[in-house]
Amino acid sequence: LFIEYAQNERVKAIGHVAASLVHEVRNPLTAIKGFLTLMRGSRLEPGKTERYIDICMSEIERTEYILSEYLSISKPNSDEQVPSDLQAILHITRDVMNPYANLNNVVLEIESPPEPVWILANPDRMKQVLVNFIKNAVEACADTPHGDGRVALNLQISTRKVTLKISDNGVGMTQEQLNHLGSIYFSTKSSGTGLGMTFSYQAVHTFGGTISVESTQGAGTEFTIKLPLYRKKEQGEPWRSGVHIDIKN
Ligand code: ADP
Ligand code: MG
Repeated sequence: LFIEYAQNERVKAIGHVAASLVHEVRNPLTAIKGFLTLMRGSRLEPGKTERYIDICMSEIERTEYILSEYLSISKPNSDEQVPSDLQAILHITRDVMNPYANLNNVVLEIESPPEPVWILANPDRMKQVLVNFIKNAVEACADTPHGDGRVALNLQISTRKVTLKISDNGVGMTQEQLNHLGSIYFSTKSSGTGLGMTFSYQAVHTFGGTISVESTQGAGTEFTIKLPLYRKKEQGEPWRSGVHIDIKN
């Protein structure tokens, strides 16, 4: 009976994920179909074709993004954790997110340590976690009327752990929103997936870390991520250095 129950729950869960994936992917497909129909049907004014192709491209990119988010959610613990250099991860995060911040007229400042800092994690996932937090912070600023959006990532290293703070002066969250943060599909955005925070909470948990958040509606938000530092077992050798980790982008 118990097995049957568990299977039922699993089938329900799969149904839920499938339904929302279909929903998410159908919207861009509908848009692409619409624009292709327009392009076939009539002679378009000069410039229109290019514009429609651009829209289709961005809808396709969005679909790819949604699919990759779903994929990362579906196998949270399957990746190997290796000693990973947070400094390198922060450099890549900066390169990835600077254009996005510029596009939204948001000033982004990412602090990185002067030397490698080792954590036990999957570096691709860790990068994705930071991208998710910074992306949300930028989007929260882009929605504010003051037009002076700022996002900062600061870090602090102590003997056992590294603390990352990601702060923004964006729209902030209500208590109700804070309560839902990290729940799957929770999103307040018209085209949000509500998967970014779920993935990030899961990943940080897998790396042995914690996340806390302080937010004031209309003023901004600050996330604090704490991660244990990676140390070699033997005494007297604090950092494991010289490990080369290839981070794909
Ligand atoms: P999405 O970005 O697709 O909506 P996420 O899981 O990344 O999904 O975020 C879920 C929700 O959490 C967002 O829709 C938003 O309401 C809230 N949120 C997350 N980060 C912030 C932030 N820095 N400022 C304000 N709201 C935030
Ligand atoms: Mg997001």
